[in-house]
Amino acid sequence: MPETPQDVLKLIQDQDIKIIDLKFIDMPGIWQHCSFYYNQIDESSFTDGVPFDGSSIRGWKAINESDMCMVPDPKTAWIDPFMQEKTLSMICSIKEPRTGEWYSRDPRTIAQKAIDFLSSTGLGDTVFIGPEAEFFVFDDVRFDQTESKAFYYVDSIEGRWNSGREEMGGNLGYKPRYKEGYFPVAPTDTMQDMRTEMLLTMAECGVPIEKHHHEVATGGQNELGFRFATLVEAADYLMTYKYVIKNVAKKYGKTVTFMPKPLFNDNGSGMHTHQSIWKDGQPLFWGDGYANLSKMALNYIGGILKHAPALLALTNPTTNSYKRLVPGFEAPVNLAYSQGNRSASIRIPLSGTNPKAKRLEFRCPDATCNPYLAFAAMVCAGIDGIKNEIDPGEPLDVDIYDLSPEELSKIPSTPGSLEDALESLEKDHGFLTSTGVFTEDFIENWISYKLDNEVNPMRLRPHPYEFSLYYDV
Ligand code: GLU
Ligand code: MG
Ligand code: MG
Repeated sequence: MPETPQDVLKLIQDQDIKIIDLKFIDMPGIWQHCSFYYNQIDESSFTDGVPFDGSSIRGWKAINESDMCMVPDPKTAWIDPFMQEKTLSMICSIKEPRTGEWYSRDPRTIAQKAIDFLSSTGLGDTVFIGPEAEFFVFDDVRFDQTESKAFYYVDSIEGRWNSGREEMGGNLGYKPRYKEGYFPVAPTDTMQDMRTEMLLTMAECGVPIEKHHHEVATGGQNELGFRFATLVEAADYLMTYKYVIKNVAKKYGKTVTFMPKPLFNDNGSGMHTHQSIWKDGQPLFWGDGYANLSKMALNYIGGILKHAPALLALTNPTTNSYKRLVPGFEAPVNLAYSQGNRSASIRIPLSGTNPKAKRLEFRCPDATCNPYLAFAAMVCAGIDGIKNEIDPGEPLDVDIYDLSPEELSKIPSTPGSLEDALESLEKDHGFLTSTGVFTEDFIENWISYKLDNEVNPMRLRPHPYEFSLYYDV
């Protein structure tokens, strides 16, 4: 893999590459791209950037100040496996051409600032992040994008047992039983070849691959695994992960969704995020506290739990996110931590006696987040916990789903809706802005973007289920 601009330029020459595809992430979290003839990229592209019109990018600039520059990161160069013509792909951060400064609303820039902030505190110099993004593969999806007569159905390669379009009859042999998708072998698992192709293609794109498997839900839910990485790198890998998974599925005539809860009453898709702080090559989360955690790690947990209601506006940023955070589907609903307990929102995985493996798993996030923003925000919350020595309280080593309503009422829960999370973010964002990682402008823009484009449009539309409830009243 190339390291420097010179390495990239040499690769372009050696491989006779004609097309350079520059990708960057918009504010809500979708990759955008523009392709250039190879002679448009030279050494200055890696410092000054390549100009483009930023005015139509969601959540960014106004039309009267539209010029922006994409600055490719040479370490992210790979040959795009989905293009017919040999095409070199690179991931970019965004600069303001007038001042030459990194753009304060660019998510990749924000992620880099989170690491710079950590280093500036002297607490650590590296955060390792390991995201586990689950997804569904469907044969067919239909929905009405704009009209009030909203409807949808999804149809799965594996047939349906429980929700969505009811298809009685047909062959139900070798279909995963309800909540038993994790994980019988073929022929029940029909997606082995597709996942293998996804995994190996990811490796071609420089992602350090580890494994793949079917997930719990009946309707074609899957997960692939890659090795943890540093903060910006992990977000780059996650974007490559989504890109490869969607494009391989398309080759098989399928579509993929990372929506957290596409199927009512079946498991949703999370993006559990493992994390730990290191300094000078030494892990700092190992210690003699609960579950062999250091005081730093416990305070980091304290910070995440304290700020979770606001944090979720960035880690679980869609209206659909909150349909996953309900009891009974392995998704967290209460703001608590525990060793090995999958019903707590922070789990401390059993990791043996190797200090390097000591980490925590924040189970709330889902893959509709913008990973650069989500990772940066989690780290800011954790650092706030460390700096202010926030006590995470007692661990909760029981199955939270089994507690009585009275016991349960003592444990704070995750926000019930995106609107609630945005309201919490409005009230509690000093932990993000006092660091210089997020600007006030960014937070305000995020809240109004989400309200105007997602919360309110959802609220205003009659929902299909309302017809079932009210049509005959
Ligand atoms: N799908 C579950 C969730 O929504 C997680 C299952 C697992 O532990 O892998 O978080
Ligand atoms: Mg999983
Ligand atoms: Mg997990």
